[in-house]
Formats: sequence, structure tokens, C-alpha cells
Amino acid sequence: MPNGKLAGERCVQLSPDNRCRIFGLPERPAVCLAFSADLEVCGETNEQALQQLNWLEQATAIFLKSS
Ligand code: SF4
Repeated sequence: MPNGKLAGERCVQLSPDNRCRIFGLPERPAVCLAFSADLEVCGETNEQALQQLNWLEQATAIFLKSS
């Protein structure tokens, strides 16, 4: 994704079973490479991870006012 990924936007590299298609390859973005799995972010199951990530995205979202 040459222009980055918006909050809530699905990464184009995610497979249907939520695996990174470029894991371990040099083209994987540095921000992904730098991330280490963390219990507070990832929880213990896929469901917990998605709930936590959705919460984090909403909690840090920037809402623009239309005038
Ligand atoms: S690790 Fe990065 S490149 Fe891979 S699927 Fe996740 S967001 Fe996309």
C-alpha cells in the first residue's frame, strides 16, 4: 500500500485467513516489522485481537468537522 493504510482499512496483504502474504519478505513495511505481539494488543484469541484493535482505532481516530 504505497500511500499507507487508513484506520479501519484492510491491508491488501492480508489473506482471507488473516495471514500476512509478505511475512518474512523484504517488502514488508518497517512499521509491521517493528511490531511485536503484545498480550494487551493481541489478547489470547483472534476475536480478542479484533475487538482490541477496533477499540484502539476508534479511541485514536481523528474526527474532522465539516463546515
Ligand atoms: S503485517 Fe503489515 S503488511 Fe502484513 S498484513 Fe499486517 S499490516 Fe499488512
